[in-house]
Amino acid sequence: MRLSRFFMPILKENPKEAEIVSHRLMLRAGMIRQQSQGIYSWLPLGKKVLDKVCTIIREEQDRAGANEIWMPTIQSADLWVESGRYNDYGKEMLRISDRQERPMLYGPTNEEMVTDIFRSYVKSYKNLPLNLYHIQWKFRDEIRPRFGTMRSREFLMKDAYSFDLTKEDAIHSYNKMFTAYLRTFTRLGLRAIPMRADTGPIGGNHSHEFIILAETGESEVFCHRNFVDFDIPAEDTDFDNVAGLQAIFDKWTSLYAATSEMHDATAFDAIPQEERLSARGIEVGHIFYFGTKYSEPMGAKVQGPDGKEHLVHMGSYGIGPSRLVPAIIEASHDENGIIWPASVSPFDAVVINMKAGDAACDSACEKIYSSLTNAGKDVLYDDTDDRAGTKFATADLIGVPMQIIAGPRAVANGEVEIKDRRTGERETMTIEAAINRLSA
Ligand code: ATP
Ligand code: MG
Repeated sequence: MRLSRFFMPILKENPKEAEIVSHRLMLRAGMIRQQSQGIYSWLPLGKKVLDKVCTIIREEQDRAGANEIWMPTIQSADLWVESGRYNDYGKEMLRISDRQERPMLYGPTNEEMVTDIFRSYVKSYKNLPLNLYHIQWKFRDEIRPRFGTMRSREFLMKDAYSFDLTKEDAIHSYNKMFTAYLRTFTRLGLRAIPMRADTGPIGGNHSHEFIILAETGESEVFCHRNFVDFDIPAEDTDFDNVAGLQAIFDKWTSLYAATSEMHDATAFDAIPQEERLSARGIEVGHIFYFGTKYSEPMGAKVQGPDGKEHLVHMGSYGIGPSRLVPAIIEASHDENGIIWPASVSPFDAVVINMKAGDAACDSACEKIYSSLTNAGKDVLYDDTDDRAGTKFATADLIGVPMQIIAGPRAVANGEVEIKDRRTGERETMTIEAAINRLSA
């Protein structure tokens, strides 16, 4: 992509409305625009990152055996009346009506709808376990939307729903998602700690929130320091191995970790002082087992091996991709801007032409740009006629991991500089060497 043709409205000034660094940087880098309170457009740079986050989430859901579907954003109120939640949900639900004055709503979550899909098709235990998920916009009329897309009213959620014959099977399904989440957050460059959580309006008794530690987090959290060094389940983890997944769950829940709602000060104080970590955190995922809470009122039953009908045991598993984008920035930035983990960076590299219009610089940059693009890399080429200083500042702000800097003096020797955004290290090398290094 040539920057001259890329819509990336960089802001020079710090936006006053932004209270936390991720919000400030997302606005400055031209990633998002607020359209009305807590409702955002995603501009090209932001959209690219959001898509990458969703791809990683999707790959790990699929690896764990979940099936992707796509449910609508607008739901009929009938299903919610059936589950008993229509009146309980309160003011966070955006209630609307169609031209026939039928009550509808913009979905804040999809337990009812997915249970309806399930009960319409699945009649036998032989079709279980089943996990259906989608990545879809949700609307919750949050009382205090803030921090940009960290807490917005319209936000993207990956929500998965598991169906099992027994509680025991449902716990295995829970452990699959637990394991998938550990892998997902690690691939996003984050260390998320699962913490015992309150089950809130969804109800149930087996629930963990996945929290990343950050000073600007809205939750107060308490945990054991050793979580920071725990190993992440490998790519070849066998998700059908019941004991294996239980062992992962047991290990990751063996140490104290709780949000303030579930905090037990006595248990926490029993941990040696130097091993205690009390901090602030951002909730990036939340998983629940809630048994027959929805299958019962909605009549989601399957025939068991005993020939009898059984209510299915369910769980739901949420991740917020549009919250993860700022959460990653909170965890990875410096005074000059964002530092993307390579896995979610909007581009693999940025080529900076320090003197656009200079024949030698132009041809060196074109060569690097086309070679890397042909090698399958997604490269942003700053071909604009901005000053070199402005280009450096932009490249640092948007946080692409590698920069290739072509200035007239180096290019005269057949050389360019490459800069690692994270470490700031610069290295001079031939144009060919730079192409080879970055195509790898
Ligand atoms: P919170 O306590 O932060 O309001 P929640 O408990 O209401 O979150 P869930 O219903 O468990 O959230 O939703 C699953 C995931 O969706 C959350 O872990 C979070 O990543 C994301 N999420 C929830 N509400 C928002 C929001 N208003 N803006 C952005 N992401 C959200
Ligand atoms: Mg909430």
